[in-house]
Order: sequence, then structure tokens, then C-alpha cells
Amino acid sequence: MKTTNKLYSVLLFLALACFCLPGFSRADGTIYQYSIIDSLLAGNYDGELSIASLKKHGDTGLGTFNRLDGEMIFIDGEVYKITSKGNAVKMKDTENTPFAETAFFNTDKIIKLDSADSLAELNKKISATIGSANLFYVIRIDGKFNKMRTRSIPAQTKPYLPLIDVVKKQSVFRFKDVEGSMIGIKSPDYVKGIGVPGFHWHFITKDRKAGGHVLDCFFTDMVAKVGSYNNFSLQLPETRSFLETAFDQDKEKELKAVEKDSKKK
Ligand code: ZN
Repeated sequence: MKTTNKLYSVLLFLALACFCLPGFSRADGTIYQYSIIDSLLAGNYDGELSIASLKKHGDTGLGTFNRLDGEMIFIDGEVYKITSKGNAVKMKDTENTPFAETAFFNTDKIIKLDSADSLAELNKKISATIGSANLFYVIRIDGKFNKMRTRSIPAQTKPYLPLIDVVKKQSVFRFKDVEGSMIGIKSPDYVKGIGVPGFHWHFITKDRKAGGHVLDCFFTDMVAKVGSYNNFSLQLPETRSFLETAFDQDKEKELKAVEKDSKKK
């Protein structure tokens, strides 16, 4: 009996310690991802996952569409495409994606941001307060942005070129004093090859008419809502092109070139 009591005490202590430890994470929920980033970098721009199927796994997220036709922003349960002309279009459930990430958005933490004079500064400020870099986070910022610079990519035709060549033809859009929402996903460094390490942001205007993949932004006095996630669910495509791709090359440099700004624009 005594041993059992001791065991209960130890368990109770451990349970309490878990709640009281500084930095204890309350992460839960699942980040769902279809395909891997290296597959997109390799030029596999056609997937078999429908928007209807994607919506079963979340209400918020990022991605693209078949033929690499535009940037996807998934917000409040609706999936939009930002076309290469910069306009937003609500997408039908029957459309397919070759790469997308989604989660059911939960606000676990609110980060107050006095200002962010660039995307790099925003990422730095969020990193400093978000918690462990080894979990996944979905971040949402709503409000008026003094400046916003985005890009989108035109639909490709076969034979598909690798993403690093395709982004050279990206269209860049500039907004001033625009109301809208940024959706970001922050992934741990160890997802290299599978996902996008660090931050990845897409933007849509409040009237849901424009947006894109965020290259830069500037704003003052906003809050970031952050949800943390400790489950990662990966669904692999079974398209012939995916099954036959050799993933024996490290594409880290290519990904960095693709994600960030093209200096020419
Ligand atoms: Zn993007």
C-alpha cells in the first residue's frame, strides 16, 4: 500500500511539474502536409489531392495548385488562389494541389508587435517570443499593413522546369496601406527536404481580391496570433512523376533562392 501511495505522489508531482515548468509547451493538434518541398523543387507540379480533401485536415494554410498555377492561401476555411495577375479567386473543392500545408487554427499565444519594418524583422521578433524552434507554428496577423510586397507564379506547361527556373518569371505586387491577413507557417530546421524550414508567409487582402507569397512587409502596432503544433502528418503523392523522382540531391540552396526576394525586381 505504501509503495502505491508513493507512486501516486510521484505521478502527481510529475503532473504538476509539467504544468508549472517554464516554457512547458501546450502544443497540440496536427499540421497536415501533402507532398514534400523537394518534389515541388524538382518540378512535380501536378498532385492528386483535391481541395475538398485538404479541407478535411484544416481551415488555415498555404500551398499552390496544379501546374504551379498561383499561390494558395487557406483562411477561415476557404481556399483562395492568387493568380499571376495578383488577383484572388476562391477555389472549387474539385481543384487539385501538388503541395499544401494546413491545420485547424488555434490561438495558443498572442504576440504584440509594435512594428516590423521588414519581413526579416517580423520573423526575428516572432522567433524571439514564440517558444521552442522545434515545434510547428501557424501564425495569423490581421490588420492594416503600411507596405506589403508579394509574388505569384504563372501556370506552367509541360515539360515542367525546376522551381528555381520558374520563379525567375514571378510577378511581384506592391500594396500600400492595405487591410488584410498574413498566414504564416513556421517549421523546425530539421524538416529540410520535406518542408520549408523557418517561416513561410502568404497574404490576402480583407476584401479577398488580391495577395500572394509575402516577400516583404512593413507595419506598426499589430498582434500575431500563434498556434503551436506537435503532430506532423505527411501524405505522399503516388503520381508517376513523384514515384520516379530521384531525391538524392540536397536542395537547400535552391529552396532559399526560391523563397526569398529576387534582387532584380
Ligand atoms: Zn509561398
